[in-house]
Amino acid sequence: MRSPVDVDLALVGGGGAASLVLAALGREEPGVRVAIVDPVHKRGQDRTWAFWGTPGTALDPLLSASWDEVDVVTPGGRRVLPLRPLRYAMLRSAPLYELAGAAEQKLGAVRITAPAGGVADDGERVVIAGPDGTPLVRAAWALDSRPRKPRRPGRTNWLQHFRGWWLEADAPTFEPGRAVLMDFRTPQPARGVSFGYVLPVSDRFALVEYTEFSPVVLGGDAYDEALRNYAGLLGLDLTALRVREVEDGVIPMTDGPFDPRPSPRVVRLGTAGGATRPSTGFTFSAMVRQADQIARAVAAGRPPVPSPPYPARHRWMDAVQLRALDRGLVDGVAFFDRLFDRNPPDRVLRFLDGTTSVAEDLTLMSSSPLLPMMRAAAGDAAGRARAAVRSGARRQAR
Ligand SMILES: Cc1cc2nc3c(=O)[nH]c(=O)nc-3n(C[C@H](O)[C@H](O)[C@H](O)COP(=O)(O)OP(=O)(O)OC[C@H]3O[C@@H](n4cnc5c(N)ncnc54)[C@H](O)[C@@H]3O)c2cc1C
Repeated sequence: MRSPVDVDLALVGGGGAASLVLAALGREEPGVRVAIVDPVHKRGQDRTWAFWGTPGTALDPLLSASWDEVDVVTPGGRRVLPLRPLRYAMLRSAPLYELAGAAEQKLGAVRITAPAGGVADDGERVVIAGPDGTPLVRAAWALDSRPRKPRRPGRTNWLQHFRGWWLEADAPTFEPGRAVLMDFRTPQPARGVSFGYVLPVSDRFALVEYTEFSPVVLGGDAYDEALRNYAGLLGLDLTALRVREVEDGVIPMTDGPFDPRPSPRVVRLGTAGGATRPSTGFTFSAMVRQADQIARAVAAGRPPVPSPPYPARHRWMDAVQLRALDRGLVDGVAFFDRLFDRNPPDRVLRFLDGTTSVAEDLTLMSSSPLLPMMRAAAGDAAGRARAAVRSGARRQAR
């Protein structure tokens, strides 16, 4: 039997979160031994990340497009949101995976193209085994981003589910300077919220997507049907366009807890570590923040432990918002419309990213429909109290 590879840092899962960590380590060159364990070596285009932030980051050269303003559309009209000093940006996965690959080479990282099974942490070292229990890697620290469910189901368990078409035209069709962040003119589901969006990278190439925030995914050809309808709303003639790529996704929107530190030397990253914002599904900016923190910590000889992806008060606000939407206490479209109507765009966008101050959060809360949100907050508190009583009773029974 081969002896396990000995490293300082093991990346268990080599997708979005791990690629950002590799890219950040490649910049810092901290002189540590790294291993990546993933049955798939991610390459090429399998997803498109859209996110906001300030320009001038290390990822800027990789962007396919960025916008200084975005549109939010409701049946009532179109709102143009100026974003400066922020900007909305699009990164296709291929250049990030390429950058991570180059960093991997620079760091002399070991890649094990196999699934990881058990991750055993004795407080001194972590042993990552294959599914049959064979030790693959022994590491001082493991960063585990394998997809997983929350530790326990949330009180509200929704999904952000979507399909996007990359549409190509022979003649100028899209407005490259004009991105649509959310277009709520799509028919609304009985339970949940739907919207379309448009991210043009040129006047002939754009990502057009249909998204739902709701409890279950759609069946049959419902996403294609929704996209055809949305293209109609945009006035696009699909007979004159080619669908070059199709992008599907399902992202958790839940107040179920993800464990960011399941044991002393294991850190969970990405969606598995709670980086997916429950109220929006946005994940990318938090993953970037954490990757940068990890690389800086490693370079300084400190443990690779990032700060939590979002402040606890934001997780609570998200739980309340999800509950209010799920129990039908607020109308989804009206909720987002009001949020953008009563706040400057950069405050809303920074809130959705988890970087607003307490004072800004209070202002944001006061702009949401007060009574239904208070009912949702009371329901959330009652749910928490019931869960605490249940877990206390379980402890007593042991
Ligand atoms: C199509 C799509 C579009 C998205 N767009 C956006 C967006 O625009 N903005 C945004 O903020 N977020 C977006 N997200 C959400 C989020 O940013 C991505 O899902 C992101 O890739 C999450 O990174 P991750 O590392 O947590 O998971 P992943 O990137 O899914 O990586 C998980 C890795 O774990 C590996 N793995 C699985 N099992 C094992 C095992 N047993 N052992 C070892 N490795 C294993 C997988 O092969 C994979 O490489 C999108 C998600 C999808 C699916």
